[in-house]
Amino acid sequence: MREELLRADLPEDDAELTADVSLRPRSLEEFVGQRELKDHLAIILEAARRRAQAVDHVLLAGPPGLGKTSLAGIVAAEMGVAMHVTSGPAIERAGDLAAMLSQLGEGDVLFIDEIHRLPRVVEEVLYPAMEDFQIDIVLGKGPAARSIRLDLPRFTLVGATTRTGSITGPLRDRFGLVARLDYYDPEELEAIVVRAAGILGVRVDADGAREVARRARGTPRIANRLLRRVRDFAEVRGDGSVDLATASAGLALFGVDERGLDKVDRAILSAICERFAGGPVGLSTLAISVGEQTETVEDVYEPFLIQEGLLMRTPRGRVATPAAWAHLGLTVPPRAAGDEPPPGLFG
Ligand code: ADP
Repeated sequence: MREELLRADLPEDDAELTADVSLRPRSLEEFVGQRELKDHLAIILEAARRRAQAVDHVLLAGPPGLGKTSLAGIVAAEMGVAMHVTSGPAIERAGDLAAMLSQLGEGDVLFIDEIHRLPRVVEEVLYPAMEDFQIDIVLGKGPAARSIRLDLPRFTLVGATTRTGSITGPLRDRFGLVARLDYYDPEELEAIVVRAAGILGVRVDADGAREVARRARGTPRIANRLLRRVRDFAEVRGDGSVDLATASAGLALFGVDERGLDKVDRAILSAICERFAGGPVGLSTLAISVGEQTETVEDVYEPFLIQEGLLMRTPRGRVATPAAWAHLGLTVPPRAAGDEPPPGLFG
Protein backbone atom coordinates (compact mmCIF):
# COMPACT_ATOMS: atom_id res chain seq x y z
CA MET A 1 0.00 0.00 0.00
CA ARG A 2 2.84 2.33 0.88
CA GLU A 3 4.49 1.60 -2.46
CA GLU A 4 1.19 2.25 -4.16
CA LEU A 5 0.69 5.49 -2.31
CA LEU A 6 4.09 6.81 -3.16
CA ARG A 7 4.55 5.18 -6.52
CA ALA A 8 3.65 8.22 -8.50
CA ASP A 9 6.03 10.28 -6.52
CA LEU A 10 9.04 8.10 -5.96
CA PRO A 11 12.03 8.11 -8.26
CA GLU A 12 11.79 5.20 -10.67
CA ASP A 13 15.03 3.40 -9.92
CA ASP A 14 18.06 3.28 -7.69
CA ALA A 15 20.00 5.81 -9.75
CA GLU A 16 17.17 8.26 -9.33
CA LEU A 17 16.99 7.55 -5.61
CA THR A 18 20.70 8.24 -5.25
CA ALA A 19 20.31 11.47 -7.19
CA ASP A 20 17.41 12.44 -4.95
CA VAL A 21 19.54 11.90 -1.86
CA SER A 22 22.54 13.78 -3.25
CA LEU A 23 20.30 16.74 -4.09
CA ARG A 24 18.89 16.99 -0.61
CA PRO A 25 19.71 20.33 1.04
CA ARG A 26 21.85 19.80 4.13
CA SER A 27 21.35 23.07 5.99
CA LEU A 28 18.56 25.59 6.49
CA GLU A 29 20.61 27.96 4.39
CA GLU A 30 20.60 25.59 1.42
CA PHE A 31 16.89 24.89 1.80
CA VAL A 32 15.09 27.11 -0.70
CA GLY A 33 11.73 28.75 0.08
CA GLN A 34 9.25 28.03 2.95
CA ARG A 35 10.54 31.20 4.57
CA GLU A 36 8.18 31.33 7.53
CA LEU A 37 8.75 27.69 8.43
CA LYS A 38 12.51 28.14 8.14
CA ASP A 39 12.35 31.17 10.45
CA HIS A 40 10.41 29.19 13.04
CA LEU A 41 12.79 26.25 12.80
CA ALA A 42 15.85 28.48 13.02
CA ILE A 43 14.53 29.90 16.29
CA ILE A 44 13.69 26.59 17.93
CA LEU A 45 17.03 25.11 16.84
CA GLU A 46 18.95 28.06 18.25
CA ALA A 47 16.97 27.98 21.50
CA ALA A 48 17.60 24.24 21.90
CA ARG A 49 21.31 24.76 21.21
CA ARG A 50 21.54 27.48 23.86
CA ARG A 51 19.78 25.32 26.42
CA ALA A 52 21.81 22.30 25.30
CA GLN A 53 18.57 20.38 24.99
CA ALA A 54 16.88 18.29 22.33
CA VAL A 55 14.74 20.25 19.87
CA ASP A 56 10.99 20.22 20.50
CA HIS A 57 8.99 17.67 18.49
CA VAL A 58 8.06 18.92 15.02
CA LEU A 59 5.13 17.90 12.80
CA LEU A 60 5.46 18.68 9.09
CA ALA A 61 2.43 18.42 6.84
CA GLY A 62 2.08 18.77 3.09
CA PRO A 63 2.01 16.91 -0.21
CA PRO A 64 4.90 14.56 -1.10
CA GLY A 65 8.16 15.95 -2.46
CA LEU A 66 8.01 19.36 -0.77
CA GLY A 67 10.96 18.77 1.57
CA LYS A 68 9.67 17.16 4.78
CA THR A 69 12.36 14.46 4.90
CA SER A 70 14.99 17.02 3.94
CA LEU A 71 13.93 19.26 6.83
CA ALA A 72 14.13 16.38 9.31
CA GLY A 73 17.67 15.72 8.09
CA ILE A 74 18.49 19.39 8.43
CA VAL A 75 17.26 19.44 12.06
CA ALA A 76 19.58 16.50 12.80
CA ALA A 77 22.52 17.99 10.88
CA GLU A 78 22.17 21.43 12.46
CA MET A 79 22.03 19.88 15.93
CA GLY A 80 24.91 17.49 15.15
CA VAL A 81 22.86 14.39 16.02
CA ALA A 82 21.88 11.21 14.18
CA MET A 83 18.61 10.78 12.30
CA HIS A 84 16.69 7.50 12.49
CA VAL A 85 14.12 7.00 9.76
CA THR A 86 10.93 4.96 9.82
CA SER A 87 7.33 5.27 8.73
CA GLY A 88 3.86 4.86 10.21
CA PRO A 89 2.93 1.67 8.36
CA ALA A 90 6.33 0.08 9.13
CA ILE A 91 5.67 0.19 12.89
CA GLU A 92 3.04 -2.47 13.32
CA ARG A 93 3.27 -3.22 17.03
CA ALA A 94 4.19 -1.37 20.20
CA GLY A 95 7.30 -3.58 20.40
CA ASP A 96 8.53 -2.28 17.02
CA LEU A 97 8.38 1.26 18.33
CA ALA A 98 10.06 0.29 21.61
CA ALA A 99 12.92 -1.31 19.64
CA MET A 100 13.28 1.84 17.55
CA LEU A 101 13.20 4.15 20.58
CA SER A 102 15.73 2.10 22.51
CA GLN A 103 18.31 2.69 19.75
CA LEU A 104 18.14 6.47 20.05
CA GLY A 105 21.07 8.47 21.40
CA GLU A 106 20.76 11.68 23.41
CA GLY A 107 19.19 14.43 21.28
CA ASP A 108 18.75 12.20 18.18
CA VAL A 109 16.05 12.83 15.61
CA LEU A 110 13.46 10.13 15.01
CA PHE A 111 11.75 10.76 11.68
CA ILE A 112 8.39 9.05 11.23
CA ASP A 113 7.05 9.47 7.71
CA GLU A 114 3.31 9.05 7.12
CA ILE A 115 2.78 9.35 10.84
CA HIS A 116 -0.99 9.46 10.31
CA ARG A 117 -0.80 5.76 9.48
CA LEU A 118 0.61 4.68 12.85
CA PRO A 119 -1.62 2.03 14.42
CA ARG A 120 -3.56 3.37 17.41
CA VAL A 121 -1.87 0.99 19.91
CA VAL A 122 1.53 2.25 18.80
CA GLU A 123 0.39 5.85 19.02
CA GLU A 124 -0.53 5.33 22.65
CA VAL A 125 2.98 4.14 23.45
CA LEU A 126 4.34 7.17 21.67
CA TYR A 127 2.54 9.68 23.93
CA PRO A 128 4.57 9.08 27.13
CA ALA A 129 7.69 8.67 25.01
CA MET A 130 7.19 12.15 23.54
CA GLU A 131 6.10 13.77 26.76
CA ASP A 132 8.08 12.13 29.55
CA PHE A 133 10.75 10.25 27.57
CA GLN A 134 9.57 7.00 29.08
CA ILE A 135 7.84 3.92 27.78
CA ASP A 136 6.06 1.11 29.53
CA ILE A 137 6.77 -2.29 28.09
CA VAL A 138 4.57 -5.27 28.94
CA LEU A 139 6.53 -8.48 29.35
CA GLY A 140 4.80 -11.86 29.19
CA LYS A 141 1.14 -12.65 28.82
CA GLY A 142 -1.88 -13.32 31.02
CA PRO A 143 -1.65 -13.25 34.85
CA ALA A 144 2.15 -13.45 34.77
CA ALA A 145 2.44 -10.33 32.61
CA ARG A 146 4.26 -7.43 34.16
CA SER A 147 5.13 -4.02 32.94
CA ILE A 148 8.50 -2.34 33.16
CA ARG A 149 9.23 1.31 32.63
CA LEU A 150 12.12 2.24 30.39
CA ASP A 151 13.80 5.64 30.45
CA LEU A 152 14.62 7.05 27.05
CA PRO A 153 17.14 9.67 26.04
CA ARG A 154 15.67 13.07 25.21
CA PHE A 155 15.00 12.85 21.49
CA THR A 156 13.25 14.90 18.83
CA LEU A 157 10.37 13.37 16.95
CA VAL A 158 9.89 14.80 13.48
CA GLY A 159 6.62 13.51 12.06
CA ALA A 160 5.63 13.94 8.43
CA THR A 161 2.16 13.59 7.02
CA THR A 162 0.39 14.20 3.76
CA ARG A 163 -2.87 14.69 5.65
CA THR A 164 -3.14 16.74 8.80
CA GLY A 165 -6.82 15.88 9.05
CA SER A 166 -5.97 12.26 9.87
CA ILE A 167 -3.71 13.09 12.82
CA THR A 168 -5.51 12.52 16.13
CA GLY A 169 -5.85 15.50 18.49
CA PRO A 170 -3.76 13.97 21.30
CA LEU A 171 -0.85 13.23 18.95
CA ARG A 172 -0.98 16.63 17.30
CA ASP A 173 -1.03 18.37 20.70
CA ARG A 174 2.24 16.75 21.68
CA PHE A 175 4.21 18.51 18.95
CA GLY A 176 5.87 21.79 19.88
CA LEU A 177 5.80 23.00 16.28
CA VAL A 178 3.17 22.08 13.71
CA ALA A 179 3.93 23.41 10.26
CA ARG A 180 2.50 23.10 6.80
CA LEU A 181 4.64 23.11 3.68
CA ASP A 182 3.13 24.91 0.73
CA TYR A 183 3.75 24.41 -2.97
CA TYR A 184 6.75 26.43 -4.13
CA ASP A 185 6.42 29.41 -6.43
CA PRO A 186 8.15 29.38 -9.83
CA GLU A 187 11.05 31.61 -8.71
CA GLU A 188 11.86 29.30 -5.80
CA LEU A 189 11.66 26.24 -8.03
CA GLU A 190 13.94 27.96 -10.51
CA ALA A 191 16.52 28.41 -7.75
CA ILE A 192 16.11 24.72 -6.86
CA VAL A 193 16.61 23.69 -10.52
CA VAL A 194 19.72 25.87 -10.85
CA ARG A 195 21.12 24.41 -7.62
CA ALA A 196 20.39 20.81 -8.74
CA ALA A 197 21.87 21.49 -12.18
CA GLY A 198 25.05 22.68 -10.46
CA ILE A 199 25.27 19.51 -8.37
CA LEU A 200 24.45 17.19 -11.28
CA GLY A 201 26.68 19.07 -13.73
CA VAL A 202 23.84 19.88 -16.14
CA ARG A 203 24.34 22.89 -18.39
CA VAL A 204 21.09 24.84 -18.25
CA ASP A 205 20.46 28.46 -19.16
CA ALA A 206 18.07 30.79 -17.31
CA ASP A 207 15.16 30.23 -19.73
CA GLY A 208 15.61 26.47 -19.62
CA ALA A 209 15.64 26.45 -15.81
CA ARG A 210 12.56 28.68 -15.72
CA GLU A 211 10.68 26.37 -18.07
CA VAL A 212 11.46 23.26 -15.99
CA ALA A 213 10.51 25.15 -12.81
CA ARG A 214 7.27 26.45 -14.29
CA ARG A 215 6.09 22.95 -15.16
CA ALA A 216 7.09 21.19 -11.92
CA ARG A 217 3.71 21.21 -10.14
CA GLY A 218 5.16 23.47 -7.45
CA THR A 219 7.19 20.50 -6.16
CA PRO A 220 11.00 20.36 -5.75
CA ARG A 221 11.19 16.59 -6.20
CA ILE A 222 9.35 16.88 -9.51
CA ALA A 223 11.53 19.84 -10.57
CA ASN A 224 14.63 17.72 -9.97
CA ARG A 225 13.16 14.77 -11.81
CA LEU A 226 12.12 16.87 -14.80
CA LEU A 227 15.58 18.38 -14.92
CA ARG A 228 17.07 14.89 -15.22
CA ARG A 229 14.60 13.93 -17.97
CA VAL A 230 15.30 17.12 -19.88
CA ARG A 231 19.03 16.52 -19.52
CA ASP A 232 18.58 13.00 -20.99
CA PHE A 233 16.64 14.52 -23.85
CA ALA A 234 19.26 17.21 -24.43
CA GLU A 235 22.06 14.64 -24.48
CA VAL A 236 20.29 12.37 -26.95
CA ARG A 237 18.70 14.94 -29.23
CA GLY A 238 20.96 17.95 -28.79
CA ASP A 239 24.38 18.96 -27.52
CA GLY A 240 23.59 18.22 -23.87
CA SER A 241 22.79 21.75 -22.81
CA VAL A 242 19.28 22.75 -21.75
CA ASP A 243 17.71 25.91 -23.13
CA LEU A 244 14.07 26.91 -23.50
CA ALA A 245 13.57 24.94 -26.73
CA THR A 246 15.11 21.69 -25.44
CA ALA A 247 13.29 22.02 -22.10
CA SER A 248 9.90 22.49 -23.82
CA ALA A 249 10.47 19.71 -26.33
CA GLY A 250 11.82 17.33 -23.67
CA LEU A 251 8.96 17.99 -21.27
CA ALA A 252 6.39 17.54 -24.03
CA LEU A 253 8.01 14.22 -24.96
CA PHE A 254 7.71 13.01 -21.37
CA GLY A 255 4.02 13.95 -21.23
CA VAL A 256 4.29 17.08 -19.11
CA ASP A 257 2.02 19.74 -20.56
CA GLU A 258 2.19 23.54 -20.62
CA ARG A 259 0.67 23.85 -17.15
CA GLY A 260 2.91 21.14 -15.71
CA LEU A 261 0.15 18.54 -15.60
CA ASP A 262 1.26 14.97 -16.22
CA LYS A 263 -0.65 12.08 -17.79
CA VAL A 264 -2.44 11.11 -14.59
CA ASP A 265 -3.49 14.71 -13.84
CA ARG A 266 -5.00 14.92 -17.29
CA ALA A 267 -6.59 11.47 -17.01
CA ILE A 268 -8.31 12.60 -13.79
CA LEU A 269 -9.66 15.76 -15.36
CA SER A 270 -10.73 14.07 -18.56
CA ALA A 271 -12.46 11.26 -16.63
CA ILE A 272 -14.50 13.84 -14.71
CA CYS A 273 -15.33 15.87 -17.81
CA GLU A 274 -15.87 13.18 -20.39
CA ARG A 275 -17.02 10.14 -18.44
CA PHE A 276 -18.89 11.81 -15.60
CA ALA A 277 -20.20 14.89 -17.37
CA GLY A 278 -18.09 17.26 -15.27
CA GLY A 279 -19.02 15.63 -11.94
CA PRO A 280 -19.75 15.47 -9.13
CA VAL A 281 -18.13 12.06 -9.02
CA GLY A 282 -17.09 10.16 -5.89
CA LEU A 283 -13.38 9.85 -5.10
CA SER A 284 -13.27 6.05 -5.24
CA THR A 285 -15.09 5.89 -8.57
CA LEU A 286 -12.73 8.49 -9.95
CA ALA A 287 -9.66 6.65 -8.65
CA ILE A 288 -10.81 3.34 -10.16
CA SER A 289 -11.50 4.99 -13.49
CA VAL A 290 -7.92 6.26 -13.73
CA GLY A 291 -6.38 3.09 -12.24
CA GLU A 292 -4.90 4.74 -9.13
CA GLN A 293 -5.36 4.23 -5.39
CA THR A 294 -7.81 6.61 -3.74
CA GLU A 295 -5.03 7.80 -1.38
CA THR A 296 -2.76 8.59 -4.32
CA VAL A 297 -5.46 10.61 -6.06
CA GLU A 298 -6.33 12.42 -2.85
CA ASP A 299 -2.82 13.12 -1.53
CA VAL A 300 -0.67 13.40 -4.65
CA TYR A 301 -2.84 14.64 -7.51
CA GLU A 302 -5.82 16.53 -6.15
CA PRO A 303 -4.07 19.15 -4.00
CA PHE A 304 -2.30 20.58 -7.03
CA LEU A 305 -5.35 20.40 -9.30
CA ILE A 306 -7.36 22.20 -6.62
CA GLN A 307 -4.68 24.84 -6.17
CA GLU A 308 -4.62 25.38 -9.93
CA GLY A 309 -8.39 25.94 -9.91
CA LEU A 310 -9.02 22.92 -12.13
CA LEU A 311 -10.89 20.72 -9.67
CA MET A 312 -13.19 21.22 -6.70
CA ARG A 313 -13.97 18.94 -3.79
CA THR A 314 -17.65 19.11 -2.93
CA PRO A 315 -19.78 17.13 -0.47
CA ARG A 316 -21.17 15.10 -3.40
CA GLY A 317 -17.83 14.43 -5.04
CA ARG A 318 -15.26 15.92 -7.36
CA VAL A 319 -16.24 18.53 -9.92
CA ALA A 320 -14.21 19.84 -12.89
CA THR A 321 -14.09 23.63 -13.14
CA PRO A 322 -14.61 25.49 -16.43
CA ALA A 323 -10.82 26.00 -16.50
CA ALA A 324 -10.38 22.21 -16.59
CA TRP A 325 -12.67 21.86 -19.60
CA ALA A 326 -10.81 24.68 -21.32
CA HIS A 327 -7.42 23.14 -20.50
CA LEU A 328 -8.45 19.85 -22.10
CA GLY A 329 -9.63 21.73 -25.17
CA LEU A 330 -13.23 20.72 -24.53
CA THR A 331 -16.29 22.91 -24.87
CA VAL A 332 -17.52 23.94 -21.48
CA PRO A 333 -21.08 22.67 -21.07
CA PRO A 334 -23.53 25.46 -20.20
CA ARG A 335 -24.01 24.45 -16.57
CA ALA A 336 -20.29 24.45 -15.78
CA ALA A 337 -19.68 27.71 -17.63
CA GLY A 338 -22.53 29.79 -16.23
CA ASP A 339 -23.03 31.39 -12.89
CA GLU A 340 -25.09 28.52 -11.59
CA PRO A 341 -23.23 25.98 -9.52
CA PRO A 342 -23.24 22.43 -10.87
CA PRO A 343 -26.18 20.44 -9.53
CA GLY A 344 -25.39 18.98 -6.16
CA LEU A 345 -22.59 21.38 -5.39
CA PHE A 346 -24.49 22.90 -2.53
CA GLY A 347 -27.04 20.12 -2.24
P1 ADP B 1 9.10 14.90 1.24
O1 ADP B 1 9.74 14.26 2.43
O2 ADP B 1 8.22 16.05 1.59
O3 ADP B 1 8.42 13.93 0.32
P2 ADP B 1 11.85 15.36 0.39
O4 ADP B 1 12.46 16.04 1.55
O5 ADP B 1 12.15 13.91 0.20
O6 ADP B 1 10.27 15.59 0.37
O7 ADP B 1 12.28 16.20 -0.90
C1 ADP B 1 12.36 15.62 -2.18
C2 ADP B 1 13.53 16.16 -2.94
O8 ADP B 1 13.25 17.50 -3.31
C3 ADP B 1 14.82 16.20 -2.13
O9 ADP B 1 15.65 15.14 -2.47
C4 ADP B 1 15.47 17.49 -2.52
O10 ADP B 1 16.38 17.25 -3.56
C5 ADP B 1 14.38 18.33 -3.09
N1 ADP B 1 13.97 19.43 -2.21
C6 ADP B 1 12.87 19.45 -1.42
N2 ADP B 1 12.74 20.65 -0.82
C7 ADP B 1 13.76 21.40 -1.25
C8 ADP B 1 14.15 22.76 -0.99
N3 ADP B 1 13.43 23.55 -0.21
N4 ADP B 1 15.27 23.21 -1.57
C9 ADP B 1 15.99 22.41 -2.40
N5 ADP B 1 15.66 21.14 -2.70
C10 ADP B 1 14.57 20.64 -2.14
